[in-house]
Formats: sequence, C-alpha cells, structure tokens
Amino acid sequence: MRATTATSIPIELLRKYDRPGPRYTSYPTAPVWSGGVGNDDYRVALRAAAVHTDKPLALYCHIPFCRSRCFYCGCNTCITRSEESVSSYLDMLEREIGAVAGLLDRRKQVSQLHFGGGTPTYIGNDGLERIMTMLDRHFSFTDRAEMSIELDPRVTTCEQLRYLSERGFNRVSLGVQDLDPQVQEAIGRVQSEQMVADMLAEARALTFRGINFDLIYGLPFQTVDSFGATLEKVIAMRPDRLAVYSFAYLPNVKSNQAKIRPEDLPTTEEKYRLFATAVEMFTAAGYKQIGMDHFALPDDELSLAQDDGRLHRNFMGYTVQAAPEMIGFGMSSIGYVNDAFFQNQSGLDSYKSAIAEDGLAVYRGMHLSQDDLVRQYVISSLMCNFYLPFNDLRARFQIDYRTDFTAEHERLAEFFDDDFLTESEDGLTITPVGRTFVRNIAMTFDAYLSGDGNGRKPTFSRTI
Ligand code: SF4
Repeated sequence: MRATTATSIPIELLRKYDRPGPRYTSYPTAPVWSGGVGNDDYRVALRAAAVHTDKPLALYCHIPFCRSRCFYCGCNTCITRSEESVSSYLDMLEREIGAVAGLLDRRKQVSQLHFGGGTPTYIGNDGLERIMTMLDRHFSFTDRAEMSIELDPRVTTCEQLRYLSERGFNRVSLGVQDLDPQVQEAIGRVQSEQMVADMLAEARALTFRGINFDLIYGLPFQTVDSFGATLEKVIAMRPDRLAVYSFAYLPNVKSNQAKIRPEDLPTTEEKYRLFATAVEMFTAAGYKQIGMDHFALPDDELSLAQDDGRLHRNFMGYTVQAAPEMIGFGMSSIGYVNDAFFQNQSGLDSYKSAIAEDGLAVYRGMHLSQDDLVRQYVISSLMCNFYLPFNDLRARFQIDYRTDFTAEHERLAEFFDDDFLTESEDGLTITPVGRTFVRNIAMTFDAYLSGDGNGRKPTFSRTI
C-alpha cells in the first residue's frame, strides 16, 4: 500500500486517514477557547503588549457585508443593501480601533494588514477610506508592510483596484473557486473566466505582488475532468499564488449550505482525486506546494520563505511577516496578544452592542500555558515547513523531543509505516506524499482532541 505521488495514494489510505480534524489556523483551536475570557483580560494583555514598542503588529479588519450569500459560504457574513447598517458598523469599528490603540499606547508599528470578509470592497471606496483613515490616525505602517485584501471579481471595480493601490495595498486575493458553469450555478456564484482574467490583468498592471486565487475542491458536480479544465485555465493565467481549499460541508452548522444537495457532492475518493489533480498540475506547471493547501511560483516570497524555514501561518493565511502579535477588529475577528487568543462577538448586533457598551467586544479566548506554546510551535512548524527541527525546539523551550514527546512519537508509528514521515538526528520531515496528511500528523501533538473536559467535543471538517 505504498504511494510515491499524491495521485497514486490508494483509496485504503485515504479512507484510513479521512477523519474530522482541525485546519490548525490556530493552536489551541478555537472550539476549545473559553467564554470565561473577556474584555478585561484583553485590556490586561494589550497593556502588557504596549511595552514592546519596537515590535510590529499584524492587523486584521473584518468587513462582513456581501450582496448575496454563496451556497458554499462558511464565512461570517451579513447580507445587506442597507447603507445605514454599513455606516453604523464603521462607527463601531472606529470606537474599537480607538479603544485598542489607546491601550497599546506608543506601540504603533504595523507590518501586516489584511481586510477580510465578507466582501471588503462591497462597502465602496468611501467605506474603505474611512477605515484606512481610522488606522492611519492610530498606527504607522512599516516601509515593507504587507497590505492585503480579499476581492470578489463580481463586485470589485477597476476604480477600486486603483484606489487600493494608491492607498498602499500591495497584495490581492481573488475568490475564483471554480470556472465550470454547472458548478458555479450549484454554488450560487456565477462569474465568468473573462471577469477573473480582467481583474488579474488590472491588478498586475497596478503592480500588485503575490496575487492569489482561491479555489475550492469538493464542490457539487466537480469531476477530475471538469476541475482539471478549471486548473488549466488558471495555470494559463499564472497567478503568483493559489490556495486550494477543501469544501467543508456542514449544513447543520451553516444553513446556507443546505441548498447544496449531498448527492451532488463528490465522494471522499473523488474529492481527494480533485485535490491530487491540483497538486499534480500545479507542481508540473512550476508551482511549489506551500504548507498543506497553498501553491506559489518559485520566486514568490512564500516559496523563498518555505525554503529557508521562515514561513508562518496565522488567521490571515501563510505569511513571511513574523509579527508575533495580531489585533483583530470587527465582528468575529480574532487577535493574538501576550500569548493569548481573543475573539470578538460573531453576530452583527451583538458586536455593535458590546462595542457601544464597553468599547471592546471579546466574548471568548484562551491564555496559553507553556505546554500550549510548545505544541503550538510543533504544529505550526509541521503545517508551514513540513519539518520539526529538534534543535530549534530545544533552543526555544528547553524541550528534548526524544524524551518529552515519547508518547506522541509512538503514535506517529503509522505515519512512518505509510512513508509519510522520516526521522533523522535533526528532526522530523514530512515526505511529499505525507503532505496531504499533514493535519492528521499535527493532530498527534494536539492535547485537546479528546474534548474540553465538559463532555463537549469540537466539530471539525474532515481531513481529506
Ligand atoms: S462572497 Fe465570500 S463571504 Fe460573501 S457569501 Fe460568498 S463566499 Fe461568503
């Protein structure tokens, strides 16, 4: 049952490892965070972080509005055409940014900014300018700051792209998903290939770098042939980066997904073949696989950072900017400050009323223990660089892998047997075939997967 390439992995192995598991955009994962962490804890953390005036911050701004809801959507969105709703949200954002900046005092440098959503450009240039003015009032961006935004080609205009470029944004990510008309109909998101190509051409002409396309596999009616045709068109356009996400079908959690019929979805094996086809076609076209499900051209910063083991991952995705602390603004946003996670209220009304009352809107979070920090490093290292360096682990945490992770190492036996992992004196390396199973390997080091002690077990999408 040996496999040498992603496309030759036998179905038995796929079945064996296809189980619910986290995507590890954080460790510990959000479902185990506690409602006992709130605004007062956030204030203490921000004040403690304020002393590190020389360390840049990463900022995330959640702009939740969309014109209509795509059937596959798993994001935290508000469907609205009401200008009043947008305007009152921006009022609350302004209060939150002011409150957080006040607590951060003289810590102002920012090396990474990301606008996510929702559809950030849906609020128009005036709305975007309002937010940028708020941020400029309190923070200063470093010369090489990475400033990125998610774009929906159906909504974003060329005029908006020009505005973003003039305002210092240097990275854009286009939601493409799939170019097949039948798939697009079935997911409630119809956008032509020409629309995507035009937006890419305009972004390139405006010298945006690291232009990314988001694709999704596992959508209704996708077949290896149809998805392969989409991939061919995408490769011909040659964006710098690609993210190929697995569709997490959770209709009981996301009611809009109930519009997708389960019988139209690919089977587990077909779904995996879609992903394997993407791996094969993108790598044959010269892209490097970054982390689990991203690809980048060899001269892109992400590829160069992975080569040097400098790649990082946070809620904004893979990055080369190692801002240790991240501030989230807006509903449902997540921050990481002073070794603790903080998440804002996830509903529009609950976010607005929390900010109106107290200036901050944290409703859950988690202070990381020393054990959490060690495991966070181990999982991040495996997810980003497919490598766990024992020396670095020792230097950072005075942890000896061989004596302190004996139980976990024993549980890795199946991955060694299946040729997904190799071990040397220096560290653990995930093989090219094993990269597909990196979530499974990382789960070995997750101390919370048995539940949170209250009988509640987190719900995760499947790993394959
Ligand atoms: S545009 Fe994006 S955020 Fe908005 S509904 Fe569609 S998938 Fe969700």
